[in-house]
Amino acid sequence: MADTIFGKITRGEIPVDFVYEDDHCVAINDINPQAPVHILVIPRKPISRLVDATTEDQVLLGHLLMAVGNITRQLGVDEGFRVVINNGEGGGQTVFHLHLHILAGRTMAEGELSQGIQ
Ligand code: 5GP
Repeated sequence: MADTIFGKITRGEIPVDFVYEDDHCVAINDINPQAPVHILVIPRKPISRLVDATTEDQVLLGHLLMAVGNITRQLGVDEGFRVVINNGEGGGQTVFHLHLHILAGRTMAEGELSQGIQ
């Protein structure tokens, strides 16, 4: 896959404060937040889209969700947050390096799912 801004960030080539990091992923604040807390969880392994993950990535995908738990607990928002993955242009994906959005700090109203992320 083509390199992206998230590839450069995960490799440390662009200085960005990590909200969280471990051997397999990093988390950063979104540059254009859609909620008071808007964090991106990005695997160090570049996978373009969720649908491009293979069985080889099963453990990594689970790891990313476990990281969400750790991050939200760390920030004290674990009682109310939303996780979004945009897949493909039709799904609103703009950076083609898999990432999870964590949105928190405001009420996530039922029915606004499609408005949560541009
Ligand atoms: P997508 O639309 O691909 O699901 O989400 C990409 C997200 O990355 C957007 O919410 C956008 O604001 C964020 N983003 C794009 N470029 C940068 C950047 O250079 N730094 C940070 N922190 N966020 C970025």
